[in-house]
Amino acid sequence: MQLLLLKNLGIDYVLKPSKAQPKKGLRIAVSFLRNGKLSIRYSKGIKPEEIEAFIAKNLVWIKTAHQKQLKPVRLFVQGEDYLYLGKSYALMPYVSRHETVIINGGQMHLYAKNASVEAKKKVVEVWKTKQCEMVFQELLYQGFQRLQKKMTQFPQLQIKNYKSRWGCCYPQKNLIILNRALIHVPIELILYVIMHELVHLLYPNHSAEFHNMLASLVPDERAKKRQLSQFRPDYQ
Ligand SMILES: [Zn+2]
Repeated sequence: MQLLLLKNLGIDYVLKPSKAQPKKGLRIAVSFLRNGKLSIRYSKGIKPEEIEAFIAKNLVWIKTAHQKQLKPVRLFVQGEDYLYLGKSYALMPYVSRHETVIINGGQMHLYAKNASVEAKKKVVEVWKTKQCEMVFQELLYQGFQRLQKKMTQFPQLQIKNYKSRWGCCYPQKNLIILNRALIHVPIELILYVIMHELVHLLYPNHSAEFHNMLASLVPDERAKKRQLSQFRPDYQ
């Protein structure tokens, strides 16, 4: 089904029939996913024209919410939501000579030398880089262990910012590159991406052999791929 209004606005969407019994009056529901796509769920029996009409009626809300999705401006203010390993934390900024980040309970305590956005951003970025190195290196080791009979040399790891991919690899260089934004997704999904790239070191293409091996190493490989699509590779 093509929704022309959304297509013309350049808003990506996913259409999904709802399995649940519709609540009274609620037959179409829209929301934005973390990957920036608009999710449209509808009850059985809804006609395409009805979806179009619903979109038209709610267009102002959709456009506004879409704008917010496009430009997630991080100000590092109290209560701002920060995702770390798939969990959501409320930011608690403090001014302190000792700069650090401490995750505790549902909060992320951020100590920066002044209250400016730049100062706070810098502290978070330094912390994030350390977390990426620690977590990704450990998970790469776990992934390598799973493959050890097939792979002899431990791969090199690089960490970069990517806008639209989670990772990539260079089999000739025995090198895997992971997106820094992976630190925001659950551990099992980071491991899924690592396994995907590790198997690519053996099978560079998405061949049947590639998929067979990945499926044998990662249970629910497809479900993990779907879960990962809920997260934004450009999250900061
Ligand atoms: Zn691939």
